[in-house]
Amino acid sequence: MKPGRTTLHFERGGFYAEVENVTAMLCGRCGTKSIPGPTATKISDAVKRLFKVGKDLNSTGISFLKVTS
Ligand SMILES: [Zn+2]
Repeated sequence: MKPGRTTLHFERGGFYAEVENVTAMLCGRCGTKSIPGPTATKISDAVKRLFKVGKDLNSTGISFLKVTS
C-alpha cells in the first residue's frame, strides 16, 4: 500500500455522485483502496448531503471537485 489519489463513485436511488482526487492508500497489485478514517467520514457526510440535494434536482448526478492551482 502506498499513498496516492483516487476517484470514488457513489450510486443511490438512481442518483450518481463522484468524488475526485481523494487521498488514499492504494495497492498497486490488486487495486484495493483504503481511505483514512477522518477523510472517509467527511466524504460520506458530503455524499449523503449531495444525494439529499440531488433528489430535488432534475439531474442524474453531481461531480464535486476542488480545483488546484
Ligand atoms: Zn493488494
